[in-house]
Amino acid sequence: MSLGAYLNSIGTSAKTIVAGMALTFRYLIRPSEIVTIQYGSKNNAPKERYVPDRHRGIHILETEKCIHCHICEKACPVDCITMDGTRDAPFDGAWKGDGCFISSFTLDLNKCIFCNLCCEPCPKECIHMGMEFDAAAYTRAHGVKNLLTDAPYSEADRVREAEARQLIEAAEAEAKRRKDEARKAAAAAKAQATPAAAPAAPGAPAAPKPPGLPPPPGAVVPKPIASPTPGMPKPPGAAMPPPPAPPATAGPAMPPPPKPMPPMPKPPTN
Ligand code: SF4
Ligand code: SF4
Repeated sequence: MSLGAYLNSIGTSAKTIVAGMALTFRYLIRPSEIVTIQYGSKNNAPKERYVPDRHRGIHILETEKCIHCHICEKACPVDCITMDGTRDAPFDGAWKGDGCFISSFTLDLNKCIFCNLCCEPCPKECIHMGMEFDAAAYTRAHGVKNLLTDAPYSEADRVREAEARQLIEAAEAEAKRRKDEARKAAAAAKAQATPAAAPAAPGAPAAPKPPGLPPPPGAVVPKPIASPTPGMPKPPGAAMPPPPAPPATAGPAMPPPPKPMPPMPKPPTN
C-alpha cells in the first residue's frame, strides 16, 4: 500500500467515527427522534408507531366469539395449538364461547412460526396475531401461552384441565343419553300416530283407486280398443261374448210353450 492510500484510509475511518458520534449526540439531546428501542424498555417507545400495523405478534383470542370448531388447530402447520371443550352442556369452570364451553386453548410459542395460517380460516375471525412481540421465557414450559387467560400456561391450568376433562366426558355422556331417549320417544309417537290399515269388511265397496299420473310428455299412449258395433264384422281374433247365464232356480216356473194349431180343413172343390 502506498503512503497516500494509507493516509486516505485513516481519514475515512475518522470521518465515519465522527458521523456516527454526531448521530449519537443528536439523539442524546433529542430523545423524541429515537427510532430504535432498548429491549425491555417499552416506555420510551414512540406512542404512534410502536410496531407496524401488520406486525404478527403473539396471538389474541376473543373467547366469547369462538365456536370451538378446531379449524385453527387443524390449519397450524406445526401443531402448536391445542384446545378442549364441548358443545353439549356447560360444566364448572368452563369459559363460555359462542354455543360452546371451553376448558383449554393453548398456543406453544416455542414452536410457532408466526405464519398467520391459524387466523385466516377462522370462521368467526376471533383469533388474531397481536402486537406483542416479547415471547421470552425462563423455561420452555413458560413459552406455552394460555389464550383463555393471556398468561403463560401453568401447572394449575394443567390440574384444572384434567378435572374439566372428566366433567366434559360426563356432560357428553348425559347429552348422548338424552338424545337417545328423545329419539326413541319420537319413534314411539310416530308409530302410534300411524295405525296399521284395517281389513275391509265383507261386501264393503272397494276403496276408489287414486287417479293415475298423467303420461310424461312425448310418451306413446296406446289407444283403447273400440267395442264392436252391432252388425259390424268382428275383428279377427276378437273373443266371442260369453253366453247369458241361465236364470236362477229360485222364482216361479215358466209356462209351457203353446201347442201347435190343428191343420185347417181343405175348402170343397166343385
Ligand atoms: S401463526 Fe402459524 S405456526 Fe403459529 S399458531 Fe398460527 S398457524 Fe400455528
Ligand atoms: S377457528 Fe376460530 S372459532 Fe374455530 S376454534 Fe379456532 S378460534 Fe375458535
